[in-house]
Amino acid sequence: MKNIPNTNLQSRLDNERKIANSLQAALDFQSLIFENSLSGIFVLGIDGSFVQSNKAGASILGFTPEELFGKSALEIFSENTRRKMKSFFMDIIHNKLTIREVELRVMRKGGSAAMIIMNASPIIKENNVIGIVCSAEDITKKRQENISKKVRMETLEMLAKGKELDAILRFIIRSFKNVHPFTECTVFSTMQFSNRLMLNVTTNYSNTFLNLITQTNIFGAGALHGKISERKKRIIKNRIERRNYRAGTEKNIKAPNLKSFMSQLIEDDKGKNIGTFNIYSTNPEILSDIDPKVFEEYCQMISIAMDRKKTENELISRNKSLTTLYSISSVIMEGNPLDTLIEKIFAVIRELKDFHFIPEYKIFLNKNDSLELLYQKNTPDSKDQDTCKIVEKGKCLCGMSFENGEVLVCGDSETDPRHEIIEQKSPSHGHIIIPLIGRDKISGILCLHTVVNNRKIEEADKFFFLSIGRQVGLAIENAMLYSELEKLTMRDPLTGLANRRSLELTIKKLLPLAKRSGQPVSVAFLDIDFFKKYNDTNGHTAGDEVLINIANILAANLRAEDLAVRYGGEEFLLIFANTDINHAQNVLDRIRLDVLDKTNISISAGLAQYDHRVSFEHLLEQADRALYYAKDRGRNQVVLADSETFE
Ligand code: GH3
Ligand code: MG
Ligand code: MG
Repeated sequence: MKNIPNTNLQSRLDNERKIANSLQAALDFQSLIFENSLSGIFVLGIDGSFVQSNKAGASILGFTPEELFGKSALEIFSENTRRKMKSFFMDIIHNKLTIREVELRVMRKGGSAAMIIMNASPIIKENNVIGIVCSAEDITKKRQENISKKVRMETLEMLAKGKELDAILRFIIRSFKNVHPFTECTVFSTMQFSNRLMLNVTTNYSNTFLNLITQTNIFGAGALHGKISERKKRIIKNRIERRNYRAGTEKNIKAPNLKSFMSQLIEDDKGKNIGTFNIYSTNPEILSDIDPKVFEEYCQMISIAMDRKKTENELISRNKSLTTLYSISSVIMEGNPLDTLIEKIFAVIRELKDFHFIPEYKIFLNKNDSLELLYQKNTPDSKDQDTCKIVEKGKCLCGMSFENGEVLVCGDSETDPRHEIIEQKSPSHGHIIIPLIGRDKISGILCLHTVVNNRKIEEADKFFFLSIGRQVGLAIENAMLYSELEKLTMRDPLTGLANRRSLELTIKKLLPLAKRSGQPVSVAFLDIDFFKKYNDTNGHTAGDEVLINIANILAANLRAEDLAVRYGGEEFLLIFANTDINHAQNVLDRIRLDVLDKTNISISAGLAQYDHRVSFEHLLEQADRALYYAKDRGRNQVVLADSETFE
């Protein structure tokens, strides 16, 4: 009997202990679930403040659960979403509604952004809502990955459509900023030849920000722009304080909100440094927020865009070179006189804008193994300078290029020690000096002037200029041959005197001039006496020698402005510019006596003076008739065509 109640009591006690234990176990279990859940779980009071949150939940927001306690949940939303959240909470509390799977952007501790998917439902006790329970999933990474995939697609599309590099880069960094709203970004590209960086694009074009970039370039984080390419691939500066800037510059710093900075080297697919991608943030821990994988993805896109554009530009410039060479050969085909040819070729070369030519150049040609100035074009600035007319082989840049057949480039005439010949009054300039290569030798050089410190000229450019030199060399050689040929066709081959073609050209110029100025012009026909007989006696070769001797005597007795023409076999026509018939007669008599003296052969001449009222043909007829009279009257004399003679 005694044991029964005891037993009952005992078993009841045991039971209750069991229940209590399992309740405790359940509670412990719940709290374990709560704590270890991968989803973020938050409990909010009806005033919207955090009552409890698990580790996952707090870390989505960048806090510890303790830090979150008591904070208003509305605070984690940006102003735009705050209103929307308020009405969600109202619905949950007043209407006991459940909110499922809404995508929200929240602000993390420090001001960066995260994307979450949230569920929220009321906590109901005895039909009253006493709080809100929320679960949240961090989808930031996923979203970022999705976005960067989209950005990648769009970047490739923009490239395919041939959009400008700046537009593409701007699109990439703006997309980055969209995901990381508390950053500003810039992209710098490495200047092709100097390893310096040049700003391409920025997400913020305000003066303040641009100022910051300059300042950071000089004093602080931005100095890394310069260093990054030398040493490291990425530089991160967190928790930047004003005191990080060099003393004395603080007052100039206009960006007190800059708290962190990151610079990443951008490389092309061969690992060559082509620029930097820079992020400036108001978040003191810049990396806390940026997923390295996503960041890498953006760097890659920038690299693709920059690299592709670089290749594209190279293609364009190669194409440009071809076009230039083509244009030069077209100019050459036109068969222009030498000076027109040279000017036209230079006009084509000048179109190569990125070499910054100034309209000043010289062409020297090989003469006895030295350079002789053939042609020069000066800018108005240096018009009166006296240019060096002869340059010895190996001397100065031109002589060096002439000696070794290489394209030479000089950045600044003032400082380049090779630039030996300094022309007075010539402002400092640069040079690109191209050897002109003819059929079998260096026939001269083309000395082009550029601005001082022109862009660096690469091997490919030199090769291109060498091709120009080859074309121009051949063209000039051809043009010179042509003018030699032309000279030949203007002269009589036996005596070297002018021929009838050349007479026509001289007359065309001379007579209108005489007509205008009223200056006299006299014309004489001159014929060897009994030349047939001379030939018959002494042979044709001896006759030819007489012709040559007479030609020399004519040339010796005439002035540069006069003209001696071999008009027919043994007949010469002389034109005396600015000479009246009496003076011409004196000269002719002197010639006649000279010939007689030197060759023992006599000549006869008929002389007439130009009257601008009658034609040149008429003048020739008069002179011819006077010659006829000279022969008729016994030869070895000069007869003047005047009225008496012709009676
Ligand atoms: P005249 O005093 O009347 O002028 O007598 P001529 O014999 O000089 O005149 P003609 O017109 O009868 O003869 C011209 C001669 O000139 C014929 C030819 O033998 C000679 N002759 C013409 N051209 C040349 C030439 O290129 N070389 C040589 N050696 N003789 C030439
Ligand atoms: Mg004759
Ligand atoms: Mg004769």
